[in-house]
This record gives sequence, C-alpha cells and structure tokens, in this order.
Amino acid sequence: FDDRDGQIWFDGELIPWRDAKVHVLTHGLHYASCVFEGERVYNGSVFKLTEHSERLVKSAEVLGFQLPYSVAEIDAATNAVVKAQGFTDAYVRPVAWRGSEMMGVSAQHNTVHVAIACWEWPSYFSPEARMAGIKLQTSKWARPAPNTAPTNSKAAGLYMICTMSKHAAENDGFHDALMLDHRGWVAEATGANFFMALDGKLHTPIPDCFLDGITRRTVIDLAKRRGIEVIERAIMPDELKNADEIFLTGTAAEVTPVGRIDDLTFTPGRMCQILMTDYDSLVRGATASAAAAE
Ligand code: PMP
Repeated sequence: FDDRDGQIWFDGELIPWRDAKVHVLTHGLHYASCVFEGERVYNGSVFKLTEHSERLVKSAEVLGFQLPYSVAEIDAATNAVVKAQGFTDAYVRPVAWRGSEMMGVSAQHNTVHVAIACWEWPSYFSPEARMAGIKLQTSKWARPAPNTAPTNSKAAGLYMICTMSKHAAENDGFHDALMLDHRGWVAEATGANFFMALDGKLHTPIPDCFLDGITRRTVIDLAKRRGIEVIERAIMPDELKNADEIFLTGTAAEVTPVGRIDDLTFTPGRMCQILMTDYDSLVRGATASAAAAE
C-alpha cells in the first residue's frame, strides 16, 4: 500500500505518498496510542465529514491525547487531500498517534501526529450481487467491557481482536466475524454495526461497548423516515434463528445484507433492499436534493 503515486496530508502539508513514513520507535506502533477514522467520498464530497473529524478528536481524547488541529482544520485538510487525489468516489483514512520522543508505557509529552490518506475503494458488489448476503462466523473473541478497554474510541488497539476474528472467519470460508460482547450478547461485525429485521421492525444492539456508527445512526433515521420501528435492545445469539433479515452497516460496508451466520441461513429481502437503496440515494445526494425541492 505504501508504494503508489499520489499525496498524503501529513502533519500540516501534502507530501508524496511514498514519503509518508514514521520511525520504528513510535509510541503509536508499540503501545497502540493511535486512533483513526474511515470515511467515504461520494460525488467528490466526504459524507458526514465533520462528524468523522469530531469522532477522531474525541477518540484521541478518550486515549488521553489531544490533536494539534481543530475539527475545522481537520475538515479542511481532508478536503485538501481529497482534492489533491482527484477522486470523486473514494475512501479516506485519517489517523492520529503519539510519536517517538519517549519509548515506554508512559509518553505523556510525546508529540501527536496526524495523517490523512485517500484512495479509491469502490463497493465491491452491485446492489443485486450484494443481495446474496455475506457469511459471518461467530468469533471466539468478545468485545470487551467499557471498563476493560476504551470502547467508545475508534482506537487502533481495539482492532487487534477484530483482525484475529476476521482472519479466523476468512480461513474457515466466511467473509467476516460476528462478535459477541463481554456478556455474550450480539455486538457487531469487525468493522460494521449489526441490524436484524423481525416482524417488520428493525432490532439493533445498544452500542454500550462498541461504536455507535455514523452509518448506524443514518440507517436508523432512514428506517424511521420510512415508518419502520427501530428497537435498540440487547439481542441474544439464540434469537438470530428467528430473524427475517440481517444486515450490517458501516462507512466501508454501507448497508451489507447477511446471508449466513455459522449454520443459520437468511434471505435478504425487502428491508435490506429499501435501506440499501435509501442509503445510496442519501450519500449520493439524491434524497437531499429531492428534500430541498419539496
Ligand atoms: N464498528 C466498528 C468496529 C467499525 O470499525 C466501524 C467502522 N468505523 C463501525 C462499527 C461503523 O462505524 P461507521 O458507520 O461510523 O463507519
């Protein structure tokens, strides 16, 4: 990924992609004092940019460090790198980490660095192909309790269990892992939130030990606009067999139907179709301009 043309915004300026490097004795690398974001560019603009920049700042605060840029400066830097890269549909990855002045668990005064990269990462499947649904395997790793890890931060350290879970699932022929939480309740996938349709209503776990995703909140709003009732509650794994439809939401995943969880199979249907279409219209501005015209 490091050997390509283009530019990356790094500590206040755009530099060549290949030069965006850190030292091996970086605190963020050894002790995971690192937070990041994932954003999508649709038709040349970043969807919910300020919400993502705010979450980046907040994620760092939870880990005890402050970004040397304001939310407005991060927004501007993001727009600058998107423009420099010249993509109209792309993915954006801001990342912030403690630097390399002190090497040890404590590094209170290390400088904080910020980089923002942008690359093309299209949806892999057309809506029709995605309607087949992806396969999830329940992970042996649990999402930790909020007093075990900073679960309300998009902290790099939390992704260790996600990568292990996703690799295990992939090695067994699944696309992704379903993670249960520290209580054994359904939590989320390794990079996306979880929804279940049951009797015409949508059910989704309360995000008390994982990210309350920006896409999650967007899809809840879209469902409500359609008059669909959304219930946030504890979901037990043995309820999954009753689900009419299951799907995931996330910036990268958008709305992705699930066709299988372990030995259970599901058929993506009307609920998935409606929300995939509504989400697509919203991010591409069709709904916004239709609403403005009303
Ligand atoms: N959970 C995890 C673990 C994630 O990595 C993501 C992606 N950021 C999400 C949920 C969904 O969040 P969002 O909709 O804000 O992208």
